[in-house]
Amino acid sequence: MRIDIISVVPDLMQSFFAHSICKRAAQAGLVEVHLHDLHDYSTKKHKQIDDYPFGGGAGMVISVEPLSVCLDSLLEQRTYDEIIFFSPDGIVFKQGLANQLSLCENMIFICGHYKGIDERIREKYVTKEISIGDYVLSGGELAAAVCADAIIRLIPGAIGDEMSALTDSFQDGLLAPPVYTRPAKWNGMEVPEILRSGNDKKIEAWRHEQAVYRTQTRRPDLLESNE
Ligand code: SAH
Repeated sequence: MRIDIISVVPDLMQSFFAHSICKRAAQAGLVEVHLHDLHDYSTKKHKQIDDYPFGGGAGMVISVEPLSVCLDSLLEQRTYDEIIFFSPDGIVFKQGLANQLSLCENMIFICGHYKGIDERIREKYVTKEISIGDYVLSGGELAAAVCADAIIRLIPGAIGDEMSALTDSFQDGLLAPPVYTRPAKWNGMEVPEILRSGNDKKIEAWRHEQAVYRTQTRRPDLLESNE
């Protein structure tokens, strides 16, 4: 998988992709993340990438030109399965979409900033618009990092125990059951006996029961929608 991320502050994401699962997946040759600084594609003086909004009002808008130049140069080199723009008015990112996108070969992520990007870029290039929730961030970088992380960890081999990604919350429409590690007794609190019983069948049943209970009490909406 290859992800090209276009941003006005790519440094924000540098450290994120240089660590943890993303780093391991990159080292294993499972994913390549390329960060592109939009300023490098500006043809204007002082590498300007934004301008005042038509119609007035507060805030700057990222201009068509540096974005189209950057996108055209990427599209000349390879085909992309998705060109994603992160935006509060996009579809809300959920596990199902992460699963779907984990099957892509090449993707472009566009991070907005300021008031956003010129609408014509969205019309001409963008294939999917994704929001990570009903709140406004200062830029799309954190949204891009959130989605990239959720997607990359699903690539087979990206995380140590492949089963682990499949037993996480949301994969089967349920939240994850509680987990424990040693010591078995701590501060008068004991790990449930059944988890120490060695009986795989019973443990499986207990975990399922706990997952259902957690979902019923914390996110009953998941049981209805199963998205
Ligand atoms: N004026 C816009 C918000 C701009 S915020 C509006 O009211 O909808 C600047 C940029 O941050 C956006 O272009 C987008 O790329 C990113 N962003 C902000 N909130 C986001 C969210 N909830 N999900 C994904 N991206 C978001």
